[in-house]
Amino acid sequence: MQDRSRNQEIARRDLGVVWHPCTQMKDHERLPLVPIQRGEGAWLYDFDGRRYLDAISSWWVNLFGHANPRINSAVRAQLDRLEHVILAGFTHEPVLRLSERLTGLLPDGLSRCFYADSGSAAVEVAVKMSFHYWLNRGSPGKKRFITLGNSYHGETLGALAVGDVELYKQVYQPLLMDVIKVPSPDCYLRETGESWEAHSQRMFEHMERTLAEHAQETAAVIVEPLVQCAGGMRMYHPVYLSLLREACDRHGVHLIADEIAVGFGRTGTMFACEQAGMRPDFICLSKGLTGGYLPLSVVVTTEDVFGAFYDDYTKLSAFLHSHSYTGNPLACAAALATLDIFEADEVIASNKVLAARMTTAAAGLAEHPNVSEIRQTGMILAIELVSDRRTRAPFDWRERRGLKLYEYALSRGVLLRPLGHVVYWMPPYILDHEQLGLLADVTTRGIDVACA
Ligand SMILES: *Cc1c(COP(=O)(O)O)cnc(C)c1O
Repeated sequence: MQDRSRNQEIARRDLGVVWHPCTQMKDHERLPLVPIQRGEGAWLYDFDGRRYLDAISSWWVNLFGHANPRINSAVRAQLDRLEHVILAGFTHEPVLRLSERLTGLLPDGLSRCFYADSGSAAVEVAVKMSFHYWLNRGSPGKKRFITLGNSYHGETLGALAVGDVELYKQVYQPLLMDVIKVPSPDCYLRETGESWEAHSQRMFEHMERTLAEHAQETAAVIVEPLVQCAGGMRMYHPVYLSLLREACDRHGVHLIADEIAVGFGRTGTMFACEQAGMRPDFICLSKGLTGGYLPLSVVVTTEDVFGAFYDDYTKLSAFLHSHSYTGNPLACAAALATLDIFEADEVIASNKVLAARMTTAAAGLAEHPNVSEIRQTGMILAIELVSDRRTRAPFDWRERRGLKLYEYALSRGVLLRPLGHVVYWMPPYILDHEQLGLLADVTTRGIDVACA
């Protein structure tokens, strides 16, 4: 028998039965799959003893490292008591305590928690609830949604419809509801010399005009506060959210904040909306909610929305939406342990220090001939690669330079997964000095390799 590595053996068997997400499977004829045996802190270990620094928090979910002892023990303790129970007609302590904690942390007025099991499902819930609210309140004509260009809200058909990343959406367009799209306040596109604030404010004119024209038929505006993550980590100023809150109130339209990626400290505050001092009508949370442990999502909304569904059963006004694993106790226990860590370790404060170290670590790339911009909001730092920094001419997408960088980084023991030609750092909050140094070095050399 051939002496193959454990990695190769597992990869071979895997490629015979598993269909991987967001992947052209044919790529794996050439590109080795990376089987992971265990994780510890910011490191992932394969079966042959190599390790990889998880610089993207395993798709933006992990906050405090893999196999975190505190979250592990909370999940273990819950496992011995109750793994799952139906949440209709029944309840349990973890879901109750989590709801109390979340409503205590969120902006005042967000007081009702509705659970689901993925980010996309949370977006579906918010979209259905908003439409249904207006129906119950006697406005059945409010059934459209306003969304920003380049936004991303998930992959199920409703979530895909209210998003705008062409690569994921275009093929399915014939299946999707028709939405109203407004240009993004994306500050990469600002005029030279224009501030983020001035640009975001100017871009709001499009939203104002659209609301004035379509408010009658619109249920809600949905946005990713401050950072359009899947759309290439494009960022904008909080002023846009303040203006949006005011305009939505004036026009009688809901505001849905999709904080699935940016919630739980990613943008420097616990929730991104805090930076605009605004309270959405719905906030969608997932990803970091369980510290990256288990699938769970929640839509938190107001008493006004809750009240529109609260009536005698025979009025048929209830929100009859459910998922089998709604409010799973193990996932809620992981979420509670995650919130404990935020509190005990004063994570928001210590992240300010780490975010500043990230700024410094990336600064050397600012003048690189293939870097048109380095931008950062809190714990998200993105580097835009272009073929010519002066003209900002993009690379041809077929050249797949991001993939070259991905492969180089893996060979150096770092997991980076560029979005097209945008390289980004979105690390777990426990990244130490040495790990950041490795990340910066591998990113710098990787950009040279990818742009050569
Ligand atoms: C990841 C993401 C989603 C979808 O969440 P899933 O759990 O992958 O379904 C929705 N919105 C935003 C902003 C996201 O980043």
